[in-house]
Amino acid sequence: MKFVDRLKMELPQGPTTVRRHRATVDQRRHAPPNQDRQPGLHCDPPAHVIHPDAISATSARNEDLVRGVVPNGGLWRGLRLITVCLPPLLVGVTMWTCWKGWFSPVDLMLFAVFYVISALGITVGFHRHFTHQSFRTKRWISWILGVMGSMALQGPLIWWVSTHRAHHQHADDTKDPHSPHIDDARGLWGRLRGFVHAHIGWTFKANLQDMSVHAKDLLADPLCRQIHAWFPFWVIMGLLLPALIGGVIAGSWWGAASGFLWGGAVRLFMVHHVTWSVNSVCHLWGFRDYESPDQSRNKTVVGVLAMGEGWHNNHHAFPYSARHGLEWWQFDPSWFLIRGLAAFGLATHLRTVPAERRRALRRRTLD
Ligand SMILES: [Zn+2]
Ligand SMILES: [Zn+2]
Repeated sequence: MKFVDRLKMELPQGPTTVRRHRATVDQRRHAPPNQDRQPGLHCDPPAHVIHPDAISATSARNEDLVRGVVPNGGLWRGLRLITVCLPPLLVGVTMWTCWKGWFSPVDLMLFAVFYVISALGITVGFHRHFTHQSFRTKRWISWILGVMGSMALQGPLIWWVSTHRAHHQHADDTKDPHSPHIDDARGLWGRLRGFVHAHIGWTFKANLQDMSVHAKDLLADPLCRQIHAWFPFWVIMGLLLPALIGGVIAGSWWGAASGFLWGGAVRLFMVHHVTWSVNSVCHLWGFRDYESPDQSRNKTVVGVLAMGEGWHNNHHAFPYSARHGLEWWQFDPSWFLIRGLAAFGLATHLRTVPAERRRALRRRTLD
């Protein structure tokens, strides 16, 4: 099937799809993967993206990139262990420094600023722009968003995108990379097992083969490959910048160390667990306002902390939408940023949900 034809299949769905959404989760969990649920591409690729048919000419180089930048097997798990476990250890050190009275408002400012920068990089950049192509923007804005997201230490851009597209294609079935509904275990123990797997356990099992399947368009884009390949540099920059700013403001090495702890380690810890809560909490607890072929839910506290990503049932029902908080009271600062970029002509082709689509998928009873 031609790429353009495949993309046409993913444009807003009709009544047949609405009926399909009403299939039960259990039926889907044991069914073969649903080929209709494609990765998160919903519009024509931007002009700068090489047509995927042309990728074969550069495939060897792309595979080298994939293998070279994200190591597989034991090394990958070792790196994940460090990136997952080091921030909590440093948070412990930070709490000890607070207990000693070594804390200043500058630390809190660095934490807040770098939290917002890296979290918006994930939500607006990695998620809504690169994964779902919910809006288009200038190349230099794409680059900035990609760098901001990389500073969150959640994996290189193309790996992140392919994992998330796999999540949408197989949401809550057996091929979902991080569903909390991993097996038929019921009760408190089953929920706990599912929660741990969806929140953090899955990161040690991620399959790298997904990249060439789910993110061909990004592998074909030189800018995405560059952001992906320089991932370690962006992470280090995200740790050194708050240290540098803290050191300059305080005029001391201690200011730099404190800036590193608050703007780096504590900020990473928070961004990690808030983002992972979208995978775990928002597929277990909360309200299902719209029909969607999965167990996604809207959870207010995650919605606020995760810059609007906690309106996760809205997102699974309408994955192409640049706006996740569909009600006026559903706080969605990521949407505010996209609207702000659009106001200055820096974001175009914003994709939103027509009222009739919302009415068609609206559930009458909440659970
Ligand atoms: Zn989800
Ligand atoms: Zn998504």
